[in-house]
Amino acid sequence: MRILIIGASGQLGLELSAVLKGEIIKVYNTKEVQGGYKLDLTNYSAVEDFIIKKRPDVIINTASMTDVDKCEVEREKAFKVNAEAVKHIVRASRVIEAYLIHISTDYVFDGERGLYNEGDLPNPINYYGLSKLLGETYALSYDDSLVVRTSGVFRHKGYPVYVYKTLKEGKEVSAFKGYYSPISARKLAEAISELIQYRKTRILNVAGERISRVDLAMKIKDKFNLVGSIKEVDHVEGWIAKRPFDSSLDISKAKKVLSIDFYSLDENLRYM
Ligand code: NDP
Repeated sequence: MRILIIGASGQLGLELSAVLKGEIIKVYNTKEVQGGYKLDLTNYSAVEDFIIKKRPDVIINTASMTDVDKCEVEREKAFKVNAEAVKHIVRASRVIEAYLIHISTDYVFDGERGLYNEGDLPNPINYYGLSKLLGETYALSYDDSLVVRTSGVFRHKGYPVYVYKTLKEGKEVSAFKGYYSPISARKLAEAISELIQYRKTRILNVAGERISRVDLAMKIKDKFNLVGSIKEVDHVEGWIAKRPFDSSLDISKAKKVLSIDFYSLDENLRYM
């Protein structure tokens, strides 16, 4: 099977490259990956040409402008990468009849309730969430596509990594009030690798167990015997975009579909 990973230089893309079997075609934009092809998703005709020429059986689109505050300010760019580019990936996927897995986010929800399931109505409160919702909509316009909604992906970056590094230096961690469903890029990649076999379509939540940021920080402190302190805050200096209070995802559907433990915190913290 020939699999195209778009966003191969990102957290999830790097782990997918390590986990997936078969002929892997890797695409990056600014951070070169070995054996990969440079392709800017905002060059739409190049994106369509590339896909049609390479004829992958499966396309996994992990690429995104993921900096939530940057998306709030650079809206045009966020729209191009997170939404409009997906339209062109879909167009090319249709031509070559490829199966498309598109990665989306818990930030499509407003966070007022939490534990959102696949059928819940999105209501983004920031531009990142809105642009990702538009991207999802394009992906779902194609019958042979699966939108994987996830939350708090971490590997070399992400909140758990910030917590670990800060506490290790004996400094104070700011834990923003609220809940989400963090997952390591490795476990998410393993789950996607299994999902490819089932060729599921529509939407599936693949994320970790719901936890508050303050509890997560305390778990990390205990697990790794770290010394720094933790303070719960309701404001983070420098943040521009609004954040949902509880963007946790209901993962009961994925638990039934998948055989692996992609969700438990202990399992996920092994891959920090
Ligand atoms: P990263 O920020 O680690 O990686 C983003 C990837 O997108 C990089 O490979 C980057 O390429 C690529 N990219 C960005 N702009 C372009 C462009 N114009 N053309 C081509 N490629 C581009 O993301 P993650 O791996 O953490 O996230 C994976 C997916 O999960 C994303 O869809 C994200 O929306 C979703 N998600 C992430 C969460 C998180 O906490 N990180 C939470 C919920 C969902 P390069 O670096 O080479 O420029």
